[in-house]
Amino acid sequence: MDPRTATAPDTYLRELIERFGPLRDGEVSGPTEALEDGEAERFAIAMATVDGHVFSAGDDAKEFAIQSISKPFLYGLALDRLSRREVHRKVSVEPTTEAFNSLTELEEDHLPYNPMINSGAIAISAMLHHADRQQADGWMMGMFGDYLGRPARLHPRATDSTETAHRNRAIAHLLRHFDVIGDDIDGALRLYNRQCVVTADVRELAGMAATLANGGVHPRTGRRAIRQEHLRDVLTLMFTCGMYDTSGSWAYSVGLPAKSGVGGGILAVVPGRMGLAVYSPRLDPHGHSVRGVAVLKAWSREWDLGIFGGS
Ligand code: GLN
Repeated sequence: MDPRTATAPDTYLRELIERFGPLRDGEVSGPTEALEDGEAERFAIAMATVDGHVFSAGDDAKEFAIQSISKPFLYGLALDRLSRREVHRKVSVEPTTEAFNSLTELEEDHLPYNPMINSGAIAISAMLHHADRQQADGWMMGMFGDYLGRPARLHPRATDSTETAHRNRAIAHLLRHFDVIGDDIDGALRLYNRQCVVTADVRELAGMAATLANGGVHPRTGRRAIRQEHLRDVLTLMFTCGMYDTSGSWAYSVGLPAKSGVGGGILAVVPGRMGLAVYSPRLDPHGHSVRGVAVLKAWSREWDLGIFGGS
């Protein structure tokens, strides 16, 4: 039970599902073949504590593609496999006021703003692919396995929509033009597309967040997923850039490092305490789960979870 509430976590999670279930705003993203019947209405919430307890409610066994939630994890992998210096020669650490898949700032600045948006994430995939073409995919799958607490799998049906594929290809070509990445654009995009369709259910997603909350060690398996010295970089960039062009208002109203994906997942990290996750596929115009944002705002406020204290 959370010391600041009178309600046991599983009761509270069930209440959140009831309270926010009627919220049906937003559109689902991606190719419709990736969605099963009724998938748009799915709704699940979970929390995983650093001492290994997991609580959940709703459609908690439903696996979905993590999409951009993969970005902070690939960033951590690049820090571990390459170095901070090497990574940040090619990708900055500034928040952006543009959408996650924008080319505008790249055109102006010639360097991706941060690793949480598509341009930065594609640059990071290219770096890993360039570092070792044979091994990079295995590093990525192994790393996700450590965070998930089981072997990583790819979504059987999710593929990038044509629009996304062309946009990401355009980003990759601009990155090549500005010498941020090398010639093997297809190799970089393949790794990027595969990281986006790694699957998790909401309990596993909360476990990934709990691993970040727990100094990089998965609370249930005891396996280290990221070197301790790189955690602060990952959490800092999730805090300042993880919710793209809404990162400022997110920091203000939720106050937690977080990352969303267009598959409908959002995770948030309560450092030293727990990981939170929501799955609900209807998205707002920024690409965040509508119910996910609403739930995490309420939860953070009601349990006083923000890293700078409650409001
Ligand atoms: N696969 C999507 C893309 O590349 C991921 C975007 C997201 O989740 N925000 O655009």
